[in-house]
Amino acid sequence: MGDFEVKDEDLAGRIGKLETSHGVLETPLFFPVVNLLKREISINDILSVGFTTIITNAYILKKNRIVKQDIHKDLNFNSVIMTDSGAYQILEYGNIAASNKEIVEYQNKIKPDIAVILDVPTGKLEDKEEAKMTVDETLRRAKDVESIIDSENIIWTHPIQGGRFLDLLQYSASEANKRDKYKMLALGSPTVLMERYDYDTLVDMIFTARSSISRGKPLHLFGGGLPHLIPFAVALGVDSFDSASYILYARDNRYITRSRTFRLEDLDSFPCSCPVCSKYTPQELLEMDDNERVKLLAIHNLYKILEEIRETKIAIKEGRLFEYIQEKAFSHPSVYSAFKKLLTYAEYLEKYDPRVKGEIKGLFLFNEDSIRRPEIIRHHMYLESIKPLHDKAIVICGDKLTQPFISDPSISKIVKDNYMNADIYVAYPFYGLIPLLISESYPLSQFEIPKTLSENTIRISSDKANSILKSKYKRVELIECEGSMLHIMPI
Ligand SMILES: [Zn+2]
Repeated sequence: MGDFEVKDEDLAGRIGKLETSHGVLETPLFFPVVNLLKREISINDILSVGFTTIITNAYILKKNRIVKQDIHKDLNFNSVIMTDSGAYQILEYGNIAASNKEIVEYQNKIKPDIAVILDVPTGKLEDKEEAKMTVDETLRRAKDVESIIDSENIIWTHPIQGGRFLDLLQYSASEANKRDKYKMLALGSPTVLMERYDYDTLVDMIFTARSSISRGKPLHLFGGGLPHLIPFAVALGVDSFDSASYILYARDNRYITRSRTFRLEDLDSFPCSCPVCSKYTPQELLEMDDNERVKLLAIHNLYKILEEIRETKIAIKEGRLFEYIQEKAFSHPSVYSAFKKLLTYAEYLEKYDPRVKGEIKGLFLFNEDSIRRPEIIRHHMYLESIKPLHDKAIVICGDKLTQPFISDPSISKIVKDNYMNADIYVAYPFYGLIPLLISESYPLSQFEIPKTLSENTIRISSDKANSILKSKYKRVELIECEGSMLHIMPI
């Protein structure tokens, strides 16, 4: 139980298969939080949107005797159920009336597919000593119950705590990673950061947790329910999410879209064609009875979350996750900040980004951010590693050439006259330099760039080309560089 197999990868994100007692799940996936005390929306409503999994709170189930024996039978739900432990209640109310051992034994008995020990969330603790206590106590509790958890039938989750203290988080993650009976790890406490629009810190936290644990273990993000953040978390290596945002927002008349949220009263028409938005106008929803409106808004919100998960998967399959998050970055300045923060981990993304993808897709390159995508970083690493064959380099400025460069009629004469005594390059934006002899190989002639480029893009590309030429050649001769975009320095 809990075998995880990666099927497809892009950046540090992946599509995987996770084996559970009630079938194989395809990740990335989202578990809608179901509160069985407040049945504003039924499990069937959630299924009708297209979800096949739910998460519910084991502490609430136990305390209110909702489930006594088998969770699937008692809830009449035959698909994958994850139970959370009650840690969220600790965040809300300070403590709960059950021990870790009781909660674990209860989950062993009711047999959800995925379960979580009763951890101590760091939440919004600002004091590092207190945050450290939550980390130590969570690790102690996981170790304490390791011998009694039923890992034959249930995938047990080890929470990672530490909040915004990245050294604590790293310690928590690497210690959790050592406990092999826990097949899934889960990063806690991001909700607080999302409420504050502090998405950069969230990126730091996800990176820290993911890079401190084995690649083979799935990573869950507690409370990650905003569609505009899902692809960023996936790009860093998050495999699953859960959240109650869809219903919490609905209660507050907030309408989620893939890029932002609206207040229902601010909308004249719906920018969506889900069954709810096709049938009603914002005005009609506002005039409805509260319960009915909350349910319908929650259903719409769930559609948006599911769409985002699906779109992110498509981007991974197509090898376009970078371009997808680059596009999403402009949905809000805080999201753009998260994107820029993610680019500071570009070398990490490059490390996991697959070298070979089934079908070759040309790169869409836009601005200096595109220079941080794995394919370009990899090309720059290649340029730095090559050993020159001659003391002299000939650089042809590629602005006016057709691709692939080697087939351009004006190139053949230059090659014929010079290949015996010089290494020949094409200077080109983003790539800096393209060695002419390999200019047909992917992705050196499979890309699209805008006609007008930012000054930064030109400067960074020129600097890269110049520094490589300077480090490798005694002489650099330029051809066709009059009026070219890049500024290459002859030597
Ligand atoms: Zn809708």
